[in-house]
Formats: sequence, structure tokens, C-alpha cells
Amino acid sequence: MAGKFTILGDFKKHHNIFFSCPFVKDYLNGKISVERFLDNILRLQDDLRGENLTYEEIDSFRAEALGKRKHLSLEEWKAFWRAEGFKSGNNASAWYREKTILFFRMPQVKEEVTLAAIQGFNMLIKEIGLDLQIIDGGTDAWLVSAVKKFTEGEVLDVLGFHNHLTENSKTSTLLSNKPHGTVVAANLYSKRDRGWWGEGQFANGVSTILVKDSRQDNLPFIMNVAKHECTHLLGIEHHDENAMLCNAYSEVNDCLAFHRSSTLALCDKCRDAILNFWQGIEEKTGIKYFKKMFILSPKKMFEVH
Ligand SMILES: [Zn+2]
Ligand SMILES: [Zn+2]
Repeated sequence: MAGKFTILGDFKKHHNIFFSCPFVKDYLNGKISVERFLDNILRLQDDLRGENLTYEEIDSFRAEALGKRKHLSLEEWKAFWRAEGFKSGNNASAWYREKTILFFRMPQVKEEVTLAAIQGFNMLIKEIGLDLQIIDGGTDAWLVSAVKKFTEGEVLDVLGFHNHLTENSKTSTLLSNKPHGTVVAANLYSKRDRGWWGEGQFANGVSTILVKDSRQDNLPFIMNVAKHECTHLLGIEHHDENAMLCNAYSEVNDCLAFHRSSTLALCDKCRDAILNFWQGIEEKTGIKYFKKMFILSPKKMFEVH
């Protein structure tokens, strides 16, 4: 009896310790992403063990927290992404100010790779209706030396490279020193994970496509990877890893924003996120980023003549 009481008491105490961790509270309130939450559990596992929490308890508390996560309504979801865009919108130095994304490839990358990547990006930009133009920059000496600075053997420190590019975007010779988004195809692996085919983020406006050797022959998948990377460049994380969750949309078995990038189709939830994110940017900057769309009804088309 006494033993059982103690175990139950410990469980309550441990439950309390776990759910009063600041990162757990932040997660439940939607301030950090699922990815960050799971990452923090891994990093803090030793500390939690030090508080006498067992692995089983940590597992069960994690599952409980994942289930308790606040889900947004449809309107809250759109408002959340609008606010995110508004927060991120920056007129003066943003990479999208000139509405241009430049594509480059390292000398060891076939030209067809750039073409497939451009196709992937163009597809998503068109679907979202954004007024962003893409320019094929071929190879560029400044960029080649920048990639080399962050290359060790056959791996690239992608994050280091992206940050370097952001810090030096004003001094580079690209696009007459005007800000622009950058996509680079490199014959390398990612330092973080050799299995990855791409990395990129909105914050610094850079995306790298990792096409080591024979990967360059898989042009259809490169198109998928590029379109997937474009979702990151345009502001969202993976389908299930965004800061907020929403169950107002129907469940999907696959989405362009899934980590595996196995489909070209973007689900409604992710599309609404990107759309509203860019509407938020428009509101903040006062610059139009959406193309005007003219939808002519058949009747109107006859009236033209
Ligand atoms: Zn991704
Ligand atoms: Zn999705």
C-alpha cells in the first residue's frame, strides 16, 4: 500500500516537473514548433533523469503534451500566418524586395539540374500567385568560392554557407548588389544529414539543392525537392512542424511539405499558410507581392469582340 502510494506520489511530482518546464509551456501555447519541442526533450533528457524521471515517464509525458497541443480554427490559422508574415515583413533589406530569385550551380552540376529546380520553384510561385521572377545565373565565381569556404571533403556546412551569403549579400557582385533570393545546386552532401537533398529558409532567402553525383540523373525528384525547398523559402516549415497546428483541414496522406517530398501537390492547409504569410508581408511593406489575376468568364470573352 505504502509503496504504491509513493509511486503515485512520484508520478504526480514528475508530471509536475515535466509540465512546468518553460519549453513545454511554450510548446503547449504554440510558441515553439513540434520540432523544437522534441529537440528540447532530447537535449534535456539527462536533466530530467537527474530529477528522477524515468525514460517511460518522459515518453508518456511527451505523448501527453503532443496530444494536448492547441489546435487552431480555420480563421485562427489564417490570422496566425498573416501575423507571422507581418512580423517578418521588411522593406529595406529583405531578399524579396526586388522580387527576384537567382539560381546558380556549382561547376560539377549539370545544367539540366538548374532547369529542373527552376521548374519546381516556378510551379509553386505560380500556384501561390506570387509576383517573383526567376533568373538562371549559371555559375558564378564569387558564389563558387563561397561554397568552397564551407566545404569539407564531400560535405557542405549548409547553414554556415547560408549565413555567410546573407551577411555578404550587399557586397557580392550578384544582381548589381541588389537583394535577391538565392538557390544554389551543389555536388555535395549536407553536413547535418547526408540523406538530405535540400536545405533552405525564408529568413535568409537562400536554398541549397544537394545533388551529389548520381542524384543529378534523377531530374523528376530534383523538381520535387526544389518545389519543396520553395515552401521553406516562402516561409513555412514541414506540414506537421509549423509553430501552430490546425485540424480544420481534412487529413492528407501526402503533401509537398512532408519531409520526404514525394508529391508535387501542396495541401490546402500549407497553401493557406503561405498565402496568408505573404499577405502579411504585403500589409507590412505596402508592396504588392501577388500578381493581379484576371479571370474571364466565357460571356466576357465573347464581349471582347
Ligand atoms: Zn524540408
Ligand atoms: Zn501540407
